[in-house]
Amino acid sequence: MTQAFATAAIHAGYDRFQHDDAVSTPIYASAAFDMESAVRGDALAAGETTGFSYSRVANPTVDALERRIAALEGGVGAVAVASGMAAVSFALLCAAEEGGRIISPSNLYGASVDAMESFFPHFGVHTDFVKNINDLDEVASKIGPDTRAIFAESVANPSTEITDLEPLAKLAHEHGLPLIVDNTVPTPYLLRPIEFGADIVVHSTTKGITGHGNAIGGVVVDAGRFDWANGRFPHFTANEQVISDERGGVEHSFAERFGNEAFIRRVRIKYLRTFGAVPSPFNAYLSLVGLETLPQRVAREVETATAVARHLTRAPHVVKVNYSGLGNTPQFDLLPKYLPKGVGTILSFLVDGDESNVRRILDGTKVFSYVPNIGDARSLIVDPARITHREVPAEYRLAAGVTDNLIRLSIGLEDADDLIADLDQAIAGAY
Ligand SMILES: *Cc1c(COP(=O)(O)O)cnc(C)c1O
Repeated sequence: MTQAFATAAIHAGYDRFQHDDAVSTPIYASAAFDMESAVRGDALAAGETTGFSYSRVANPTVDALERRIAALEGGVGAVAVASGMAAVSFALLCAAEEGGRIISPSNLYGASVDAMESFFPHFGVHTDFVKNINDLDEVASKIGPDTRAIFAESVANPSTEITDLEPLAKLAHEHGLPLIVDNTVPTPYLLRPIEFGADIVVHSTTKGITGHGNAIGGVVVDAGRFDWANGRFPHFTANEQVISDERGGVEHSFAERFGNEAFIRRVRIKYLRTFGAVPSPFNAYLSLVGLETLPQRVAREVETATAVARHLTRAPHVVKVNYSGLGNTPQFDLLPKYLPKGVGTILSFLVDGDESNVRRILDGTKVFSYVPNIGDARSLIVDPARITHREVPAEYRLAAGVTDNLIRLSIGLEDADDLIADLDQAIAGAY
């Protein structure tokens, strides 16, 4: 990234002089694009020239979002998709397809654990879960001949546990494995995993990146450093018709044709083109607008989240507060290295009493909205055990710290004192 983060958040990836001088990225509501001439059409189809032809594969509004997020994360390229789950699924399957295995903690977003535990196996992709992703001996003990990737969330949802990315990336690379990181919770403003050795970064842009709870979306970013021809990934070195020139009799594999961009090209040309989880240009536009204020929003939300977390540690009926920023988790010593600007905008806390007390707290808030989302400008409250982590098997749910009395908050841009007063009155009325 040549520009500072706040500048790139507004300018990267978009050149107004190529768009009739429009200062705000236009919404290209066009399914397809004129190929102009038979010669250019042939070159476009062969991938020998750049340009747009069909919006399932690429669209100018979506392209600006992809370039901006790649710049903010420090990657060589990105593919925007229709949701965070599409990003997680495409990245993991693209690495591990054809019978591969993934190593991952179970301390993850609910739908990600569920996919890896009970759905990807239907496609022949299995996961070896570890109890503690920061225990390198445990991780190393799971590496076998079929392992194709190590996956983790940089900051886990909802526990806010921090992954020690640098030694994990080093271990992965010693074994010819890529490190894939879900960086949704901190956003690239607080943490850029590629700077610590991650090879692939995924996001749910639904959350902090778009930031206003108005568009579902996701993105896969490629650091462009991993050697996919190292022998572990036959699907990257096999010749594929879709990128070959049949008429010229020239065959290509992704690794040989695209080099350090092999992964992100494969996500677009195989996964996006086939499974079609394409973001609409309108949603990409909302994400672009959201990104413009990412640094300011997240900085303010972290400040408020810290104040709320601190207050909760002293509040009646609150037994425990999970917020790595407070210094009450084993990963606190990782904070200065990875998250000097703060751990993020979500936190969770445990209350005493039973399910009925939890229900009354959820029903009693007036400023917090009862919503299964995070990273919104509005503050949100939810009970993960019954909502966001409901489909996760109990064993993994408990490993992620999601018990029945856990309440998760996502802190928005309202006044901190109003949020604290709202929680105080809801808790007081619940017992
Ligand atoms: C929300 C979320 C996802 C899934 O994103 P969607 O946009 O809802 O599909 C994946 N990972 C994390 C950490 C999330 O918070």
